[in-house]
Amino acid sequence: MTLDAVLSRIDDTLPEALDRLVELLRIPSISTDPAYAPDCARAADWLVNDLKSLGFDARSAKTPGHPMVVGHGGEGNRHILFYGHYDVQPVDPLDLWDRPPFEPELQDTPKGRVIRARGSSDDKGQLMTFLEACRAWKHVHGALPGKLTIFLEGEEESGSPSLIPFMEANRGELTASLALICDTGLYEDRVPAISTQLRGLAKSEFTIHAASRDLHSGAYGGLARNPLHVMAQLLADLHDPDGRVMVPGFYDDVDELPDTLRSQWQALSFNHAAYLGDVGLSVPAGEVDRTPLEMLWSRPTAEVNGMWGGYNGAGFKTVLPAEAHAKVSFRLVSRQDPAKVLTSFRKWAEARIPADCRIAWHDGIEGSPASVMAISDPAFEAARTALSEEWGRPAVFVGEGGSIPIAGYFKTILGMDAMLVGFAKDDDQIHSPNEKYDVESFHKGIRSWARILARIA
Ligand SMILES: [Zn+2]
Repeated sequence: MTLDAVLSRIDDTLPEALDRLVELLRIPSISTDPAYAPDCARAADWLVNDLKSLGFDARSAKTPGHPMVVGHGGEGNRHILFYGHYDVQPVDPLDLWDRPPFEPELQDTPKGRVIRARGSSDDKGQLMTFLEACRAWKHVHGALPGKLTIFLEGEEESGSPSLIPFMEANRGELTASLALICDTGLYEDRVPAISTQLRGLAKSEFTIHAASRDLHSGAYGGLARNPLHVMAQLLADLHDPDGRVMVPGFYDDVDELPDTLRSQWQALSFNHAAYLGDVGLSVPAGEVDRTPLEMLWSRPTAEVNGMWGGYNGAGFKTVLPAEAHAKVSFRLVSRQDPAKVLTSFRKWAEARIPADCRIAWHDGIEGSPASVMAISDPAFEAARTALSEEWGRPAVFVGEGGSIPIAGYFKTILGMDAMLVGFAKDDDQIHSPNEKYDVESFHKGIRSWARILARIA
């Protein structure tokens, strides 16, 4: 069978694939530091050359920042875009590295063989898994596995300033029917995972004003309204005793978790005691009738991120402050609209403010909605089967508690869903000294993409 031939080719040529990764890792493409701009350009050129060697029509596209690498190639019924990033985080503190971060080395560790260098896991090792799968496929079949666009960014670690304008200006050539993103990890280091839903975010900073100036609590205390009390009451009222958010309509656009996902998540047997134990906690807060994973991945939240006012200096000042401040944010899921959530939060808050007080809102009512991928697209189930076969255990559709902006942009700007598949492990030390990528992640990652492409491209 031809897939078997591709997989054997991957196994036989692993040393060469590692050599290529080492070459790419030697280029210090630190995007946030302008001193490394020539190295970022060099990494982009290296990738363009590699893509050309695979038969892609590839170029390094100029932006006001670091170049984007774009390549098109292959033929097939379905146009698939692959995204990764070639830039890396800075390396300081250098003295905590056990070797120079841009002199990669294969090391044997108690947990297996690793390749150690900055960018090995985030994201050069991961992006190369896809290119190596294409290479083996091409060698066996004489052609790429399908109609592919490769899109590699050089500013992911520095806020992606050029990304949105570039996507908007190049909509035509970047729009495919599905995006693949390789910048995530295995679930608990062993379960292959496809992230299919990512929470969105909406934020609100505001001030409650009362008296026209700070007052003496001897002269006014008991008679004058204290805005800190009003703020404390307001924020306390945000949740009922069962952990539900009390803003009217907050749950209107929140979908229940489909049974198929519920059972996949149950099978993960998430250990909330260990998860909370790591940070010195023990008891799940939040909605009483929800599982911990649901709370993290598929339920919306309202959180107080900051509250302040009055006198905070040394000693004591018996002041009745004139104003109180807070920052509140919402993690959003399903079809929740950030503007709608913020608008009803404002209405709810204003209706609860007593006479003589007013609220000043300090920011707009924008935010980012959740990204929920259409897993009814058969490609998702096909990829899940492919990953299960490769890793010898059932792959799972997981959620992400935070947002991964690129997935949202693919949806909002290019109108396509993204499938996030990655092979990083929790101990890869990304963004930290001694970053590594397991050779197993690299090897099985390449094999995973070959299997996925065989099924979906
Ligand atoms: Zn990354």
